[in-house]
Amino acid sequence: MAKEELECSFCGRKKPETSLLIAGLDAHICDRCIEQAHGIVLEESKQSDNTELSSELMLKKPQQIKTFLDEYIIGQEYTKKVMSVAVYNHYKRLLQPATDDDIEIQKSNIIMVGQTGTGKTLMAKTVARMLNVPLAIVDATVLTEAGYVGEDVESILTRLLQAADYNLEKAEKGIVFIDEIDKIARKSDNPSITRDVSGEGVQQALLKLLEGTVVNVPPKGGRKHPDQKFIEVNTEHILFIAGGAFDGIERHISKRLNMTAIGYKASHDDEIADPDNILQYIIPKDLKDFGLIPEIIGRLPVLTYMDPLDAKTLRAILTEPKNAIIKQYKKLFSMDDVEFSITEGALEFIVKKAIEYKLGARGLRSLCEEILTDAMFELPSSDEKKLHVSKSYAEGKLSKTTLKKLKAVS
Ligand code: ADP
Repeated sequence: MAKEELECSFCGRKKPETSLLIAGLDAHICDRCIEQAHGIVLEESKQSDNTELSSELMLKKPQQIKTFLDEYIIGQEYTKKVMSVAVYNHYKRLLQPATDDDIEIQKSNIIMVGQTGTGKTLMAKTVARMLNVPLAIVDATVLTEAGYVGEDVESILTRLLQAADYNLEKAEKGIVFIDEIDKIARKSDNPSITRDVSGEGVQQALLKLLEGTVVNVPPKGGRKHPDQKFIEVNTEHILFIAGGAFDGIERHISKRLNMTAIGYKASHDDEIADPDNILQYIIPKDLKDFGLIPEIIGRLPVLTYMDPLDAKTLRAILTEPKNAIIKQYKKLFSMDDVEFSITEGALEFIVKKAIEYKLGARGLRSLCEEILTDAMFELPSSDEKKLHVSKSYAEGKLSKTTLKKLKAVS
């Protein structure tokens, strides 16, 4: 009689309803629950087993990569295209089977030149998100040569390890975004006799990393400690993406372009078709003239530029990307059952202020925050279930002082 009562302790199914009921110490489990649990185990191990890059990744062709980038990044068509190809080639190289034809595909590390706030970091983040690989974002300005105050270049790899939860194999296929690479440019075109700590020395130190080498990395970062255990990280398959504003590089570019025009055909000086976007004419030589050493330039073979953000782009950034700022506010308000809407006039007003006060894309968020803070403070405790932001509402919330304050922090 008691046997008839046996049931699965997980789903409650009676023994006759199952094909199999396994007994534990004082619990039972049925075949279906075992299967389900097995599925969960597989799912979990798939997530933590990063030794192989997902096959999904390899199926993504450059055009598919670009489509993914399009969802998050407005404009920047050229960089998105170049990036898609570089990323595709990088991972193709990584997965190439060993052959005996002696053709070794070189790394396609990337360098992006563009004003701050034009989406360089966003580009690196989006690529990492798409590939589901760890990403370390490091600022070149904190790097110094070994032995000086500051961070050794190896600290970059410590960050990557941390981003990969110390999974070495995952880290070795990750992406490193080195921001402000222009800040380690040599200050003058002549190599100086005295070494400059934050400039050329760091470039030299970066060389090996970019090319591919095995580095002993202190797992917790900081200074090397005699009895600290090192982790050996091979950088051969790490994709390095460098970014920088290279303020003033336009001068080098225009100078070169004008010289070419005069040198060949004087009448061709109208070749600079787009004086507002001189960066699009950039070539590696301009980076050298700016102060990057040729070896570094050689190890960042994919050179691309970011377009400046015009009003149309800024307007689109507010609402179009998958996680656009306005979409985020809509979601935040909806959590309090508040229906949030904003007029075209208000959006254009925000863009106008971002341009007027030179706040860039980053400023869009601060402006929205200023406009919406009162509402976000008050509405959750009120009965009001609608928030309609018009141009005059936005104007009312933004005083000159706040705008000046925003400019100061941007
Ligand atoms: P950078 O690294 O060039 O200084 P970021 O990538 O940090 O610029 O951009 C700052 C913010 O501006 C991003 O978080 C993003 O919200 C927004 N942004 C900038 N450019 C774009 C763009 N082209 N498309 C969508 N959002 C952008």
